[in-house]
Amino acid sequence: MSNDCLFCRIVAKEVDADIVHDSSEVLAFRDINPAAPTHVLVIPKRHIASANELSDADGHLLVDLFQTMASVSATAGLEGGHRIVTNVGHDAGQSVHHLHFHVVGGRSLGWPPG
Ligand code: 5GP
Ligand code: ZN
Repeated sequence: MSNDCLFCRIVAKEVDADIVHDSSEVLAFRDINPAAPTHVLVIPKRHIASANELSDADGHLLVDLFQTMASVSATAGLEGGHRIVTNVGHDAGQSVHHLHFHVVGGRSLGWPPG
């Protein structure tokens, strides 16, 4: 846990969030500033700064994260499709340096992203 990390503080329940999934290694909660009707952030409970910091030992965690995203999208009724995004670094607009996957859906999504 990093005391100055917002998402570690959400994991520790020090900061409120609208949690939609809570399991031993993974937490999912609604984005405070949604970009679409469904916008959920799926994160490892352990602090990992970004997708660049993953290691060989994180294979099981990645499966857990992606299975959680499948469950979140199914529960939200996103049969028509959805997008999974993880921003890495400054140029991509990463603003919280704790690995998170955006699950976005519920409207038609443009491509390429801005
Ligand atoms: P990034 O820009 O790092 O890819 O995504 C960070 C996301 O975290 C943004 O979409 C932003 O709206 C969301 N966010 C920032 N602060 C909070 C917060 O306090 N609670 C929740 N639920 N989401 C937040
Ligand atoms: Zn963190």
